[in-house]
Amino acid sequence: MQEINGRTKICGLIGNPVEHTLSPLIHNTLSRALGKNFVYVPFLVEDGNLKTAVKGAYALNVAGLNVTVPYKSEVISQVKEMDELAAHIGAVNTLVRCEGGYKGFNTDMTGLYRAMMSEGIVLSGEKVIVLGAGGAARAVVFMCVHFGAKAVYVLNRTRKKAEEVTEEANRTFRKNCVYALGLTEYEKLPEGKFLAIQSTSVGLFPNTEEAVIEEAGFYEKIHTGYDLVYSPFETKFMRLVKKQEGKAYNGLKMLLYQGVEAYEYFSKEAVSEALSLEVYEKMKKAMGADE
Ligand code: NAP
Repeated sequence: MQEINGRTKICGLIGNPVEHTLSPLIHNTLSRALGKNFVYVPFLVEDGNLKTAVKGAYALNVAGLNVTVPYKSEVISQVKEMDELAAHIGAVNTLVRCEGGYKGFNTDMTGLYRAMMSEGIVLSGEKVIVLGAGGAARAVVFMCVHFGAKAVYVLNRTRKKAEEVTEEANRTFRKNCVYALGLTEYEKLPEGKFLAIQSTSVGLFPNTEEAVIEEAGFYEKIHTGYDLVYSPFETKFMRLVKKQEGKAYNGLKMLLYQGVEAYEYFSKEAVSEALSLEVYEKMKKAMGADE
């Protein structure tokens, strides 16, 4: 990191908790490599303090903020402007300073898109299965339609929640390409192979021996599986995809690129793929996944 001086710009993360975040590693590594006089710090924001935190950050000339759990929806009421995709998704993870306040973006989803592109996964024209209908899954469904997926099948334990997400996405994009199913109804999927994006919390450490669907019959339908979970580094979902000859990826690159894209907004500088991958190696090391 450059020496902190009178010209140092501050960026940071607001959320609760923030202790285990990899975001400072991402942002400060990028600043060091690019010779930028930026510093990125975590800010713990207690329940009830979000409005004061955003106003205070603006008053303190903070250049940009990331927003994490539990404030990604609530923070929308505190922004001056909204990016269109973030508005559709209804969640913001990045605040970029603008005239009189902050503009809200969702780099979780553009980051996921970039992570998939970096693995050669093309969304446009693709048939996608989204497992889950929580906050992350909802954003994934919107992102898939936004980037041109041909059809999106939302499979969730609570079918009603899948139906709500489906209805909302179809209404927002004025399309009829999103369909809802229960988890056990995968046999109703049309013929052919799918890209599956695992967006539930099942399989997350310490429950590493769990997958949201266990049956081999489901995995036979998957040519590529993308798990949003990255701890453990290889999830049970990924193992089940690979067992049926599919390609499988975890969500660490999504985390990487959401940070890279936020950094690009904050610093107004493009980050190369080579530098992004250097940061990725550091993230793996920090997670103990580099062996
Ligand atoms: P959430 O809103 O709490 O939603 C949880 C989802 O998981 C719901 O669809 C829920 O189904 C399902 N689920 C939970 N337990 C289940 C079980 N035992 N069996 C079947 N389904 C179950 O959580 P979220 O915010 O969407 O986050 C989901 C995951 O995404 C988390 O693990 C998080 O780590 C990951 N994530 C990763 C990144 C990244 O950068 N890589 C970013 C964001 C999120 P019901 O509706 O039936 O309850």
